[in-house]
Amino acid sequence: MKLNISSFCALLVGSLALLMFLLWCLSLLVLVDRQNQQDAAATQQNLHSQILQLQQKQQLWLQSQYYLLNTLAESSADWQNFQTFLWDYYQRNPGIWSVNLMDFDEQGKPVSRSSKPGCLQPGSMHRHDYDDYLVPKISSCRIDDKALLEISGPVAADNGAVVLLVSMDYFDFLNEFSSLSGRRLQRAADSAQGVQYREFSASGNSAAQITIPIGDGDAVFGELHLDTQSLSFWELFERQAIIVLTLLIGAAGLVTGLLYVYLVRPLLQLAEKMRRAANSQQDRRIEPGGEVGPGLKVIRDYFKVLQKMAKRDPVTGLSNRVIFEDHLTQAIREGKRSGRRYALVMIDIRGLEEFAQQRGQYIVDGLLRQVAEGLRESLRESDHVARFERNLFALLLEVQQRDQLNTLIEKIYLSVVRRYQVYGREFELSAFFGIAIYPDHGSNAGAMYQNASDALVRAEHSEWPIQFYQDSNAVTDTSGFTLIQALRRAIDNDELKLVFQPVVDLHSYQTVYLEALLRWKDPDRHDAPIDHTIRLAEQNQLIKPLTNWIFETACRFISESGIDDIAIGINLSMIDLHDRRLPERIETYLQRYQVRPAQIVIEITEGQIMQDPDEVVEVLSHLGVMGLSLSIDDFGTGQASLTYLKELPVEKLKIDQSFVCDIATNPDDQLIVKATIELAHTLDLKVVAEGVETLAVCNLLAEMNCDHVQGYYISHPLEAGQVTAWFETSVKPDLAQKGR
Ligand code: C2E
Ligand code: MG
Ligand code: MG
Repeated sequence: MKLNISSFCALLVGSLALLMFLLWCLSLLVLVDRQNQQDAAATQQNLHSQILQLQQKQQLWLQSQYYLLNTLAESSADWQNFQTFLWDYYQRNPGIWSVNLMDFDEQGKPVSRSSKPGCLQPGSMHRHDYDDYLVPKISSCRIDDKALLEISGPVAADNGAVVLLVSMDYFDFLNEFSSLSGRRLQRAADSAQGVQYREFSASGNSAAQITIPIGDGDAVFGELHLDTQSLSFWELFERQAIIVLTLLIGAAGLVTGLLYVYLVRPLLQLAEKMRRAANSQQDRRIEPGGEVGPGLKVIRDYFKVLQKMAKRDPVTGLSNRVIFEDHLTQAIREGKRSGRRYALVMIDIRGLEEFAQQRGQYIVDGLLRQVAEGLRESLRESDHVARFERNLFALLLEVQQRDQLNTLIEKIYLSVVRRYQVYGREFELSAFFGIAIYPDHGSNAGAMYQNASDALVRAEHSEWPIQFYQDSNAVTDTSGFTLIQALRRAIDNDELKLVFQPVVDLHSYQTVYLEALLRWKDPDRHDAPIDHTIRLAEQNQLIKPLTNWIFETACRFISESGIDDIAIGINLSMIDLHDRRLPERIETYLQRYQVRPAQIVIEITEGQIMQDPDEVVEVLSHLGVMGLSLSIDDFGTGQASLTYLKELPVEKLKIDQSFVCDIATNPDDQLIVKATIELAHTLDLKVVAEGVETLAVCNLLAEMNCDHVQGYYISHPLEAGQVTAWFETSVKPDLAQKGR
């Protein structure tokens, strides 16, 4: 339904007026009810005071009657006449209920000397002390359901000991009236004799006046007047309606006006602005004309987005720190209750800042989204992942079995540390993982954060990128990490070795250097060949400890070989070339084993340079400055840009064996090799041909003016123990004729 401003305001005025009208009616009802209650109380009060007055009047009347009787009795000498007078008096005053003349017997008990029917029996006289008869007295009592007022007192008789007792009916309705009000009053009045009840209803409310004669027959000595009036809702309503309704509508209009000025108009303006913004962003059409509906919808959508943003990381859509902390606290609570175990994994992604500087934040956001996606996919339903800040992610994993946790963490690690494609470009990221396990490494969220962060710092400074929190007594537990464990065990348990393949100069037949090649000491014990392990370690950023081991082993070998001019070629991985601390580490080994920089030839493949030339150039230049010799391996397979070749302090080009091995039979390969040699020479580089398996190839290369050769024809890779012998026998001027 579309809502325009005028109908919106009319609706607002209407509903406000209706609301105020209902409130007014309710207040009238309350008012009427309260007023009627007050009136009823006042009537009751009035009734009581009137009754009290009448009682006093009655008593005075009775008293006067008593004195009259007493005077008469005193003045009457004749007892018989006195009795006659009393009976006359009784006849003349029908209000008097009984007249008794009481005498006393020998035992002092009162006996009736003379009485009229209806009079009290002497036996009922138990209420009085005899002495009291000597004192005139007015008292009231209730006998046979009658309220009686009695006059008693001594009467001078023959024996002077007679009591006159006059009882009169004590306006029996009096009690009844005293507890009545409203409609019951009317009913009571109807049932009483001589009572007048008049009701007024002229002005709409019910008012009544009751007049009650008090006394008996002729002896009426007073009237009871009662005015009752009850307030009527309708009368009050009619009286106030016009004024109040006018005021209500006015007030509703005023409130609406204020609402419009201070709420609706600003909202409309905001809605209009947001509508325009929404229109400009999404080509969505909202009809102009100050409509509230679509504007409010935009505001609602906006707030929904804000709400979502408060919980989510805007780049990756993952939970943010606040929500994650909630999950962690809940998990710890759950763990305390059920004994479950949880792992908090802090992940520091490396390389993003450099990417941001080089490629811009847009690319980095794309990378982050892919990282988040990878994390999400490798997690289970019950796990949580969040992005805390720029390159810091956090995981909360339920730990069922420690081995399974290790496998899961390795899986997650491999999902992060891999090759990414963003907008047609390839990137590689590295990452460090710091892990704390509840309850072993902390009993609350704060301690868990602290310890996982500690582990993360340790991961950043050690060779292994995944570290569990360790207190001083703990032992590192990496069992279960298949890949990491395999490499670590291989290094720690001395399962690896280096073999050395000579690179020989084609002119002088001198060994230029020995290329160090990695091998399992006992290949039968390993399923995967070593180059597979190297590739896997390369892909997963685990090459760093391996390279360290190779450098150290090679340097030790040089130092222990005792061969002066020996040089060793070491293959570097792409990851090594991103490690700015590599030159520093190489320096350490060189110093430790007293090796000259020139005794190390660094081999890097063409493809490695082209992956990220700028960064690689920086590290390689540093190595060149240090005095190390650089060689481009597998040349011809990676389309290295000549520009970079010129920029790098490279000394040698190694033509890939795939071009070399068939040159004797394949003229195309021959052409390529020849051209490459010429190009290298133009760039002032020495050329190494690898994969030289035959004499024919060797001769051809010599003809092509190739500088150095490497291959099975020259020598298979040598065990360390064979190297000395090689140097003693390998310098053979007749290499081409030796027929190997
Ligand atoms: P690469 O650097 O091009 O090493 C030459 C490879 O060719 C070696 O294989 C070597 O044994 C083999 N080779 C030598 N002469 C001949 C020949 O006449 N014919 C044939 N068919 N092959 C020959 P290997 O040792 O299996 O190494 C393979 C690759 O693994 C190496 O290629 C290198 O990229 C990598 N690699 C080997 N050792 C290391 C290392 O210590 N560190 C690193 N980062 N990579 C290594
Ligand atoms: Mg090599
Ligand atoms: Mg090669």
